[in-house]
Amino acid sequence: MLRVFRTLRRAYEHVREDVGTPLYDGAVPLRLIAGPANAGKVELLLGRYLDSLEREPLLIVPNRSDVDRVERELLALRPALLGGSIGTFDDVFERVARAGEGARPLLSTAQRALLVRRVIAGASLDGLSASARFGGFAESLQQALGELESGLLDPADLDGDLGSLYAAYRDELDRLGRWDRDLLRRRAAERVQSDLSAWSGEPVFAYGFEDLTGAEWALLEALAARAEVTVSLPYEPGRPAFASLQRTAEDLARLAAGAIEELPPRYGEIAHPALAHLERSLFADERPEPPAVDGAVRFFEGAGTRGALELVGEELLALIRAGVAPEAIGLVCPSGERWRSPLETALGTLGIPYSVDGDARLAQTPFGQALAALLRFAWADGTRADLFGYLRSPFSGLERRAVDFVEGRLRGRAVQQPERVVEEAERLRGTPLPALADLREADDPIVAVRELADRMLRSAHGLEAPPADEPSRLDLRAHEALTRLLGELSRWRTLAGELSREDVLATVERQTLRPQRGDEPGRVAVVDLLRARTRRFDVVFVLGLEEGSLPRRGHSSPFLEDDARRALDERGARLLRPDPVARDRYLFYTACTRASQRLYLVREAATDDGSPREASPFWDEVQAVFDPEEVRRWTRRRALSALTWPLDGAPTERERLRALAALAADEQEAARALARANGWERRLDRALVAFRRPTRITHPLVLEQLGSRTTFNVTELERFADCSSAWFVDRFVSPRTIDAEVDAKLRGSVAHNALYKFFSRVPAELGVERLEPSHCGAATRLMRACLDEAIGGVRMDMTEMQAHELDQTLWRDLEAAVQEECDSELPLVPRRFEVLFGGERAAPELQRGLDLGSGRSLTGKIDRIDVDPFGARGIVQDYKSGKHAHSAREIESELRLQIPLYMLVLRDLVGLEPLGGLYRPLAGERKARGIVRAAEAEALPGYARNDYLDEEQFWGQVERAHETAGALAQRIADGDVRHDPKGGDCPAWCDLWPMCRVERP
Ligand code: SF4
Repeated sequence: MLRVFRTLRRAYEHVREDVGTPLYDGAVPLRLIAGPANAGKVELLLGRYLDSLEREPLLIVPNRSDVDRVERELLALRPALLGGSIGTFDDVFERVARAGEGARPLLSTAQRALLVRRVIAGASLDGLSASARFGGFAESLQQALGELESGLLDPADLDGDLGSLYAAYRDELDRLGRWDRDLLRRRAAERVQSDLSAWSGEPVFAYGFEDLTGAEWALLEALAARAEVTVSLPYEPGRPAFASLQRTAEDLARLAAGAIEELPPRYGEIAHPALAHLERSLFADERPEPPAVDGAVRFFEGAGTRGALELVGEELLALIRAGVAPEAIGLVCPSGERWRSPLETALGTLGIPYSVDGDARLAQTPFGQALAALLRFAWADGTRADLFGYLRSPFSGLERRAVDFVEGRLRGRAVQQPERVVEEAERLRGTPLPALADLREADDPIVAVRELADRMLRSAHGLEAPPADEPSRLDLRAHEALTRLLGELSRWRTLAGELSREDVLATVERQTLRPQRGDEPGRVAVVDLLRARTRRFDVVFVLGLEEGSLPRRGHSSPFLEDDARRALDERGARLLRPDPVARDRYLFYTACTRASQRLYLVREAATDDGSPREASPFWDEVQAVFDPEEVRRWTRRRALSALTWPLDGAPTERERLRALAALAADEQEAARALARANGWERRLDRALVAFRRPTRITHPLVLEQLGSRTTFNVTELERFADCSSAWFVDRFVSPRTIDAEVDAKLRGSVAHNALYKFFSRVPAELGVERLEPSHCGAATRLMRACLDEAIGGVRMDMTEMQAHELDQTLWRDLEAAVQEECDSELPLVPRRFEVLFGGERAAPELQRGLDLGSGRSLTGKIDRIDVDPFGARGIVQDYKSGKHAHSAREIESELRLQIPLYMLVLRDLVGLEPLGGLYRPLAGERKARGIVRAAEAEALPGYARNDYLDEEQFWGQVERAHETAGALAQRIADGDVRHDPKGGDCPAWCDLWPMCRVERP
């Protein structure tokens, strides 16, 4: 249970009681400065550093990006710094270790990753052998090995696979005569502990760290034994916000042996009272009466990442326009990786300059992305998307249009297999793909990547003018990072021998760019929670306050589980990590105390598709420290449906116009006045009539084209009858998806093809015109062969699985259709199949098509005609690949034109007396429906009772369909497009409304 002490001194006394004899008998000179955020700890520490300049003090800061910043702060206090040095913990480790005997060169991060890969490849694993196949295994192992080294542990301290891997890794390091970064840290700590010459007494000042690794702690402890060490730590005993720091605080307090300065809170001296109140009350059990918020703390709730970032972007613009310097604004994100791309979109669109304080991976830059994609395709298991990701980029040197054409063709035929992709792409282009063959044939992967990188840069930027804009600078930084990496790989090969293509690819994908300064003048700073600790701003936005984002989920290492850590920690390895929730509580507290004027807390209240998201518990904690009425007052929301900006905050003219149109929906007079004042009247008028704009086609050229049409397809007329706007989009504009896939349309076409082949061959191969039960076996075998041929003729690269699935579903239906055909007692003989009418490809007597009047005719294709062998009579049949067939009533009410019109074709063009027309579903119960002449019921038995129509009804329905077809053709010729869904209402499933511009509720 947490013991609560009012002061750190008292806590120290308790620690001393618990641990018995202190390490240095209370005589060590470490001084601890503690206190809450903004209590002046760092200022005090810096002041002491300056006071001891003549003794060449060392100041330890948390990150490299802090070095320059602190130097500037010190120079503001004293015009010249004629002594002392500033660096990170790693700088100290390096300085100490390098000055000792037996110092070894250091492996770079990439070289270390290669060494870990080599160790895994050479190890025979027991429990971990299954996981070793996965990509993340090497990364996790590298991390675990680093922790073991930092924990000053040896392979002998461990058992099992991890112990053997650690031993193998250390043996390799010894064999190569190298250290890695963690081993260097360890050696430095050990040297300070054992070698008197390792430190000559310069005072040490340190701030900005909370969790100390074993090596850091050993270094600090050893330094404290021989020099004056002053450490600043944000800490208040007993406060839940600092719970994760309890161990560090108590250990430092023990080392300080009472030399502890506890500073009182002073945030109120530099910040708004509401911010100071938040600092005192956040996660505290006792909360004083809240002051007026006064806008110093604000809450933003946006729907989706876009909505949340639009709120932030709008506010940023307002702040910058009001005179706040961009660099005085900080955006704090729980994770830089997760937010990098949405921020790029949101802030980039608004033209807000920003800089990210953190690491960026090479593969996240456009240059690195294109390069890694091509390497994956050439050397690993890359996909078509990887290849075209590279080809479409400016780095390939190809024209974007040409690449799109080739990719469209390949996608249209679902060509996916890498070898087929290359074969088809090169065939279509008529020339080899750039760089690919060179990469594949290269003997030396390092040289190949270097040549590729140079070629890519030349293709994108040429050799004429220096790349000078922002994206070009990023390309150059990426190229520089790659060149650095390739140099490291070359040195590795000289040192360690062979280097595979996979090794090169793995390191390219993990390489990072040199960090940028996150505090550039004129740019908003984007920092993660960890880096935010040492920064101060006038205004701070804390993003990601949703459940699951903050507190973040803890990631445990597969190699070092909690029990193992605990056991090793008891031996002094300091491997136990604070509870992740407590850790994030502290980091969030720190982020909330970075602003002196205003703090914004931002959360997504819904996902991008509208599902609600719970707020982070931290969000609730902040709201709980203020008056609920004030919280309501300072909360702003942006709904998913908010597609426009407020008029006065819209960042671009286009957005201002959109906002004006939205305003006009409710306040037309105000909108018109604004439009007049800005010269936007015409544009507003156009926006206002958008939904009422006539749908009839008016362009003379289009009308001329439509009016000159003489043939109309029957399925086209049916679509027009469904809704003329749907016809316009579907059949006239005719957008298509690029990717070929095994969909219902393809299935239907293969089924039709197989049936056509089957019935055409029955007379020749089975020697009969009409199938009977005795033909079932032979007929089934024939159908099997026909289906195989039909599937073989599909012009699309199907995977084995897709082909198998297509075959199985069709075979089930077609086999049943054959059986049904053999069992049928109908006296008619299937005689003609896929009968085209209208158009040049039809038989001569059918080419003129069915007359629709006014010089127009109908075209189409009848699936099957069954003929009475004893008379010029027959029926038409239309196969449906689904389960449903239209009854006689539905044919009339739903304006299904095919069957009635096909019967007219039978009569007027083929010269047969129509007895009926039927839809034949291939799936489900396969019950044929349609219209049949009741007078012929004896010859055509077995259909649904309601589908038998008397002569008047039968011919009446056929004639009405004919008239309807003529009228629809006339409307098409006139360009008479309307919003006229059949039945009056747009069906819920129609997704064309954004294109046909129907207002939806
Ligand atoms: S949304 Fe309505 S008007 Fe538009 S195409 Fe669909 S059915 Fe026709």
